[in-house]
Amino acid sequence: MEIMAILVAAGRGERLGSVRPKAFVEVGGKPLLRWAAEAFEGVSAVDQIVAVVPADHMVTARALLADLHTPCDVVAGGARRQDSVQAGLALAPRDFAGLVLVHDAARPFVDATVIEAVISGARAAGAALPVMPVVDTVKQVSDGKVVGTLDRSVLFGAQTPQGFAYRVLLEAYAAAEAAGLTVTDESMTLEGMGHEVRAVPGAARNRKITTPDDLVWAEAFVDQRSAS
Ligand code: C5P
Repeated sequence: MEIMAILVAAGRGERLGSVRPKAFVEVGGKPLLRWAAEAFEGVSAVDQIVAVVPADHMVTARALLADLHTPCDVVAGGARRQDSVQAGLALAPRDFAGLVLVHDAARPFVDATVIEAVISGARAAGAALPVMPVVDTVKQVSDGKVVGTLDRSVLFGAQTPQGFAYRVLLEAYAAAEAAGLTVTDESMTLEGMGHEVRAVPGAARNRKITTPDDLVWAEAFVDQRSAS
């Protein structure tokens, strides 16, 4: 095995206001987790998929992913995103010398172009992630008052998958945990160590489904695709 994709899907998705965990919410009749898994199945370099799901959704997830051609494991996630990622990392063989791609199942429409760009970047630099330029003017706000404006020409939104040499990510997470850091993505664990993280182009379609408005967008995206 050279490449393992970890799909983190153990969040409750409270901002979406759904009774189901977010990754199990359907768009175009298909749960977000299944959309994401199919995207990775479409990239031949990916040898294994690990879905990290809420403990009470493991049976549902296994059934949902049973017919994938790429070998697939399901494991229970944790309270924080970083706990879920580490639960997925624990499934790699001890001596794994390949790459891991960590992807938010809440980004169902990631495509092969982005996944392959991340793989190339991670092969070259040991770590890579897709980014999108920030289009809004970005303000710092404190107590309801604007305290500054950031230079948006150097600001980018981080997407997933984020790709790493497995050993590098394992060590970076161990260091982050030892320092008591809470991280919102994998790249943060490496930045503190001074390790290069290569930025590659992301895609607008690789949007994270967070709020009910994002779901409306996702349904429209699927409708438009099936019409064309
Ligand atoms: O909450 P947020 O949208 O940032 O979550 C990003 C991804 O991380 C989602 O796919 C979510 O299911 C996953 N996650 C997880 N375990 C958690 C929290 C979030 O797998 N404890």
